[in-house]
Amino acid sequence: MDFEAFYKISYGLYVISASNGKKINGYIANTAFQVTASPPQIAISCNTDNFTCGLIEQSKKFSISILNQNAKAETIGLFGYKSGKDIDKFESIDYTKAQSGTPVVLEDCIAWFDCKVNQVIEVGSHKMFIATIVENNLLNADADPLTYEYYRKVKKGVAPKNAPTYIDKSPETPKETDSTMTKYKCLACGYIYDPAIGDEESGIEPGIAFEDLPDDWTCPTCGSPKEMFEAV
Ligand code: FE
Repeated sequence: MDFEAFYKISYGLYVISASNGKKINGYIANTAFQVTASPPQIAISCNTDNFTCGLIEQSKKFSISILNQNAKAETIGLFGYKSGKDIDKFESIDYTKAQSGTPVVLEDCIAWFDCKVNQVIEVGSHKMFIATIVENNLLNADADPLTYEYYRKVKKGVAPKNAPTYIDKSPETPKETDSTMTKYKCLACGYIYDPAIGDEESGIEPGIAFEDLPDDWTCPTCGSPKEMFEAV
């Protein structure tokens, strides 16, 4: 199997949210696509291990928020690499509720859809939910959506391990270079800090060892602190 071929499939990146009335949660998905226009229906593929998957099954409702291309690393880290079993992801972010009561993430998002599930298809590790769109809102017509390709190439992110597209053989795994300085890997998202490259986004020039990064430096992909990194 040539794993690189899978990266030629285009995807967007979305926050899928749901609530069972008691608990509220959301996660980052790259699989959401419109299946029919009339009625407007959309499908998502959700890992059964995701806390949100159970909430969708109970409520038969979920929302899809489309991430902005310039979404903050903290937002992606919160929804992509942390579990709602451990924390309340909605504690400190901007969100609203659709007319149906479904939570809808607004933080770093440019449009959203509120969906009512009408079919569930079991597909091994995942469940596919096919749903009718009952409400939507375009928040920012001028902004570009974040795509999986942009996330991988520009933000240097890797798929969370519960994603349907996760490949347990990341091409982001560092290759040997001449650099003698140690690379460090973010245990949350898989981002590799390479001293030979630095971190342009945070103004870190090439040649700065991981140990010499400021204490408040965070992962440019998911926002995790330095403590989440391990030498590779
Ligand atoms: Fe990270």
